[in-house]
Amino acid sequence: MSIQFHVQRNPNPLSQAQREAVLKNPVFGQYRTDHQVVCVWEKDKGWISAEVIPYGPIQMDPAAAVLHYGQEVFEGIKAYRWADGSIWTFRPHENARRLQLSARRLALPEVPEELFVESLRQLIAVDAAWVPEPAEEKTLYIRPFEIAAEDFLGVRAAQRVEYRVIASPVGPYFSGGIKPIAIWIALQSARAGRYGTGEAKTGGNYASSLLAQTEGNDNGCSQVMFLDAQTGTCIEELGGMNLFFVFKDGRVATPMLDGTILRGITRKSLIELMQDRGIEVQERKISLDEVRAGIASGAITESFACGTAAVITPIGQFKSFSETLSLPASGSEPLSLSLREELTAIQYGRAEDRHGWMHRLG
Ligand SMILES: *Cc1c(COP(=O)(O)O)cnc(C)c1O
Repeated sequence: MSIQFHVQRNPNPLSQAQREAVLKNPVFGQYRTDHQVVCVWEKDKGWISAEVIPYGPIQMDPAAAVLHYGQEVFEGIKAYRWADGSIWTFRPHENARRLQLSARRLALPEVPEELFVESLRQLIAVDAAWVPEPAEEKTLYIRPFEIAAEDFLGVRAAQRVEYRVIASPVGPYFSGGIKPIAIWIALQSARAGRYGTGEAKTGGNYASSLLAQTEGNDNGCSQVMFLDAQTGTCIEELGGMNLFFVFKDGRVATPMLDGTILRGITRKSLIELMQDRGIEVQERKISLDEVRAGIASGAITESFACGTAAVITPIGQFKSFSETLSLPASGSEPLSLSLREELTAIQYGRAEDRHGWMHRLG
């Protein structure tokens, strides 16, 4: 398939001075670029249009299915400016395939891989000036998403769907630098059930995580860790990040992908980087009891969370109303920080891309 993009430039983009002021301190999620991508799909016709248009609100009927039944999926991917000025993204075909997996689960049409990658390229072609200079971990965070746009209050898969791409210049996800964060253990709130939508990147998973997130925030934690819905004993992941545990003997473990955990691309890449270093990485069930005992005995020396937005974040504590599990203050060479350095060096073109992960956008 090849679909032709129609480009309508924003007649009133932000001035260079205004844009530069934003790029000086791009608070995560607060600002958007001058354009967006819109592609429309209709039942029996397929993808019928692809446009780049000025950034602005969506005109939508109040009966649009997404507003009532949450039929939507999304992705998160970054554009990095290299020192030579070129613009790159990281493993976009992985995101394209995951968007398709999410879409299938939510009964949405699949965005063809080429259309996904081309949509990123098209947006960067008009908004390249929004990709920040490569300092202080600044990037352009890109948010592709699909929504059920048909106005029809009956319950069935929508017959008109929009795929859109917006972008937001960002600095570090957590303000205040890389320091270990405290994690709230959700004991009365599950994120994803068996055969549910846990493996799909869909808004509903986030909606169902917010109550526990609020409880965590009220108790001094910045993120929430969810346990499996079936038994409430095994660790799954955070609201928007995957988890790793480092053992004293050098092994590393991460919860296995069993249909309820998001298939993180950062997770997958870190596993590959660790295997390159000869580290044994186990993908398996990890119970909260094992982590509790491992932290108490010193068998677990480190834990970290990972995702595109925050890259890698070391974890200092796991907390609930009844306990606080504190990891030791990290030694001189924590694995999380050396992996973080290795991955970001590849992403910003400072290290050799030996796996062929980087894809040029502009
Ligand atoms: C997006 C997401 C992640 C991280 O995935 P990356 O591909 O590494 O960005 C992890 N967990 C959840 C629930 C997510 O939505």
